[in-house]
Amino acid sequence: MDTDVDDTCKAGGEGEKGKPIVVLLMGAPGSGKSTFCDQVIRSSARPWVRICQDTINNGKSGTKVQCLKNAARALKEGKSVFIDRCNLESEQRADFMRLGALQVEMHAVVLDLPAKLCVSRSVKRTDHEGNLQGGKAAAVVNSMLRKKELPKLSEGFSRIVFCQNESDVQATLDTYIGLGALDTLPHGCFGQKNPDAKVQLGIMKFLKKVDVPSNARSNASRGQDSAPPEATEVKNPICEGRENISSLSDIAGDITRLHSRGGLHCNVIANAANWRLKPGGGGVNAAIFSAAGPALEVATKEQAKSLSPGNAVVVPLSSASPLHISEGVTHVIHVLGPNMNPNRPNCLDGDYVKGCKILRMAYTSLFEGFLSTVRSQEKLPKGSIEKIGSKPSVLLGHSKDAPKIFSLKSDQKIKRDGVYEHERSKKCKGSQNEVGSDINVSRAGKVNANNDNTGGSNSKVWGSWAQALYNIAMHPQKHKDDLLEIADDFVVLNDLYPKAKKHILVLARCDGLDHLADVSKEHLQLLKMMHAMGLKWAEKFLLEDASLVFRLGYHSVPSMRQLHLHVISQDFDSKHLKNKKHWNTFTTAFFRDSVDVIEEISNHGKATLMDEESVLLMELRCHRCRSAHPNIPRLKSHITNCRAPFPASLLQNGRLVLAPSNT
Ligand code: AMP
Repeated sequence: MDTDVDDTCKAGGEGEKGKPIVVLLMGAPGSGKSTFCDQVIRSSARPWVRICQDTINNGKSGTKVQCLKNAARALKEGKSVFIDRCNLESEQRADFMRLGALQVEMHAVVLDLPAKLCVSRSVKRTDHEGNLQGGKAAAVVNSMLRKKELPKLSEGFSRIVFCQNESDVQATLDTYIGLGALDTLPHGCFGQKNPDAKVQLGIMKFLKKVDVPSNARSNASRGQDSAPPEATEVKNPICEGRENISSLSDIAGDITRLHSRGGLHCNVIANAANWRLKPGGGGVNAAIFSAAGPALEVATKEQAKSLSPGNAVVVPLSSASPLHISEGVTHVIHVLGPNMNPNRPNCLDGDYVKGCKILRMAYTSLFEGFLSTVRSQEKLPKGSIEKIGSKPSVLLGHSKDAPKIFSLKSDQKIKRDGVYEHERSKKCKGSQNEVGSDINVSRAGKVNANNDNTGGSNSKVWGSWAQALYNIAMHPQKHKDDLLEIADDFVVLNDLYPKAKKHILVLARCDGLDHLADVSKEHLQLLKMMHAMGLKWAEKFLLEDASLVFRLGYHSVPSMRQLHLHVISQDFDSKHLKNKKHWNTFTTAFFRDSVDVIEEISNHGKATLMDEESVLLMELRCHRCRSAHPNIPRLKSHITNCRAPFPASLLQNGRLVLAPSNT
């Protein structure tokens, strides 16, 4: 940016001259506001006073009123004034704008430097007047920048200068340093926000914002008036990205509902995970695990048991996961940033230099992970995907209120009739799983709950992790040590993640029978045999522990391929039962009692299946007394003690299997 000192109206020229100036500096901590003031004051011929709330009270922090009083006094003495305060929000500026009534010029100098630079400067400083330094500074800078509202002439400014880089700042410094006591500067807006921000329409729709991206280059140069800021503002703060990132914006919204709520297509969600890669916590991590369903936990375990700071792990999301079905998310990338908690491994212990390194590693791992997902999509056979022109994108769950979205340069997006596909099925066997086949979903992206096979196929895309039961069913001998029983038509095995004291699976061995939606009258005999086998095992367990109560049934929409009957004790006493999805899939109508399935298949040739999404919408209720509970820990502590009788509906038709002494 060239200096605009040449445009200064020197004393004796036309127009109003000699008015004191109030310059409201605007910028995040670390943007260089105080340095700017100091340099002008040191070198300018014009008398300047710096007003800073951190020191206004005899060198100590004071109030805004004190700032206003001191500023008014200085102006009356003919001095010009710098208001050295972040002033990022228009409301914060409004009080100072009242100084304009004192016949002075109101200027704004916006130090709109990259957030990264402000953060690193404020973290490193050691003697800040307001003690905003070290680790806490990063959080403050980020939170302030989220609220940033660029100034407008309509607020009462006669001149606004936007500086986006050090050379813009230097040019503006030169302007004010060169300003004589009686000189004035041209009115209007100079320079503008970084025009490289690409506003994604989806994001704007999501945010219900109508920001207009600017096409003009940064030009805070001398006297060249830019378009009024009202017309060029891009409200999303732009951060610096890596080479291959075409845009990065900070947006607010629910990371688990971007497609359904805002029409955004984000294939990949980056989850700020915990080191154990567990669903817990109250923030984004919990929200993502809960929205993705148990599939994510299972798939995560397959990839890694824990994560160290700076690392990321890419987890393909099952096509049966609600997050996949309704939001189009094909992968979750768990990423772990620097740790400042001494109770967790690899604590930084105040070493912010190391923290910055780890943070960089974390972002690098995240983007490399994302690139690997893009590349794996590109390897898919031609014709297996539709190019729809939009870019695969990754969305970083930063906090519930502030996810970040990034798009990478690639024009491939996998979408087919509202269903997002990944890893299309080199790994799946059978024609129904070949590349190009469609998952059985409705237009709204929901699994067809009524088994209404209009397309003639119940085929569904299964991720590699969801094939474990299928592999066992097809090759039981390879797994014989893990099996309780092997028969010609089914095998029996312990559930690997039992959700109760006793939880086994009776697994059909018939190829092509992936889930309940595939079942028809021809499978009636098999269903009856599976039921009988389940009963046999339940009765065996009841001999060992007569206090147990069993239920036999199928999930309406299973997460694992190959028809399997759950035989599960109703204590639900298990560390593996962790979330709403786990609970509701076993205790609501989503769990289809084997006896009912047999009856429906026999009468109608198909079973009634419940929509998977509804499972997450239902409350957490005790399966015995039906009382509602706010979360899983509270529910679990309730069910440990609840001895209410089971609901009458369960006591009928042999839905519950009890010890003879309890019937
Ligand atoms: P569903 O949601 O009906 O598909 O249930 C699948 C069940 O399979 C869940 O209860 C999982 O805990 C269980 N499971 C997942 N992987 C395995 C495995 N490799 N061996 C045995 N059970 C498994």
